Amino acid sequence: MRVKVVCVGGGPAGLYLAILLKRQNPSHDITVHERNPEGSTYGWGVTYWRGLLDGLRAYDLASARAIEAHSVRWTDGVAHVGDLTTRHHGDEGFGIGRHRLLDLLTDRARTLGVRLEHESELTEPPAGADLVVAADGVHSALRTRHAGHFGTRITAGRNHYIWLGTTKVFDAFTFAFAETGHGWIWAYGYGYSGEHSTCVVECSPETFSGLGLDRADEGEGLALLEKLLAPALDGHRLIGRPGAGWQNFRTLTNRSWHHGSLVLLGDAAHTTHYSIGAGTTLALQDAMCLADALHEHTTLPPALAAYESRRRAELLSAQSAARYSAQWYENLPRYIHLPPHRMFALLGQRHSPLLPHVPPQLYYGLDKAAGQLEVLRRFKRWLGPRAARALHARSSAGRD
Ligand SMILES: Cc1cc2nc3c(=O)[nH]c(=O)nc-3n(C[C@H](O)[C@H](O)[C@H](O)COP(=O)(O)OP(=O)(O)OC[C@H]3O[C@@H](n4cnc5c(N)ncnc54)[C@H](O)[C@@H]3O)c2cc1C
Repeated sequence: MRVKVVCVGGGPAGLYLAILLKRQNPSHDITVHERNPEGSTYGWGVTYWRGLLDGLRAYDLASARAIEAHSVRWTDGVAHVGDLTTRHHGDEGFGIGRHRLLDLLTDRARTLGVRLEHESELTEPPAGADLVVAADGVHSALRTRHAGHFGTRITAGRNHYIWLGTTKVFDAFTFAFAETGHGWIWAYGYGYSGEHSTCVVECSPETFSGLGLDRADEGEGLALLEKLLAPALDGHRLIGRPGAGWQNFRTLTNRSWHHGSLVLLGDAAHTTHYSIGAGTTLALQDAMCLADALHEHTTLPPALAAYESRRRAELLSAQSAARYSAQWYENLPRYIHLPPHRMFALLGQRHSPLLPHVPPQLYYGLDKAAGQLEVLRRFKRWLGPRAARALHARSSAGRD
């Protein structure tokens, strides 16, 4: 059956859903409305892992190949802690410029016959569509109109962050921690093209105001960060974007993800802290799941219900990882004075629900032993989810 679908928002979620629905049935009438001009977006590069490429290949080989061909890869992680540096070998990671990703998805959508309306801002659902997709990001206007129905909850993180670019092309996933007279400030960076890397800088509110970053103009702020992060930047510049200053990350959840023929997708439905580098992957996976659900059901209500319940379940572990990862950075003083290689090992374990409750040195020892002894590794795996459930139950009970 031919359906008319309007996607509001031409980010990864909206564009990829449009591609998948057009592939399912070329006669579907699909329009993406994006408020920005073509080729303009926020942010720098984004990371993703092998599992995403496998998923993309299964759903649309052409866009998967294009994304892989335009991505950079790394396998090592480097941490600069003051003057000390430690390097570790890890899993293969990928980076791609957000601009590039959106260009590739836009081209693919256009080739398949999706109508793309740039500089078209929609703040209410258009009439006449069978399905309206709110893929309009974390500040979704369509969701906000029905905030009561969706049961939107937003929690702002304690720390401040800024999403920057740099001309330093990191050859590894790079962390830099710098101690100042007002506490620690840190950054993580990864290459996403032959010319640029992403560099996300974060610090506590005390460090933020102590360093005067709350009062500095853009140029002064960047100059100060370049000085503080010099060991990692090798004299390269940091680059800001007009209007994109310091923020507190907003973790967003919704009690419901659909309302009549309106459905939330990607960041409009949920966000996960940037330190796990998963929001784009999750937005693309939302699109895969919604496309499947629409294909499997002949009417909209069961399709949207199936999409919501599947994705809610699939997201639980990423949401938990994101929560613990954000907390790890908020509790940085607990870890930063360990020897750099130990601190780095625990940084790699920051998603763990157990780590905040076990003395860091002891956790490091247990983790090392678990890496060597299969029986301990199994015990840790078994303990992990049980402890996460117990802690979750305890904190839910505390809220009631
Ligand atoms: C600092 C930082 C670092 C990150 N790093 C990573 C990373 O490494 N890896 C990763 O996977 N994710 C990362 N993310 C998360 C990622 O950027 C988002 O999760 C992802 O972009 C979500 O995609 P989306 O399509 O849902 O929303 P968006 O990408 O936000 O797209 C929404 C689109 O809707 C448009 N729009 C908004 N309102 C309207 C309207 N009313 N009408 C028409 N158009 C509208 C916007 O212009 C935008 O183009 C990071 C996020 C942050 C903040």
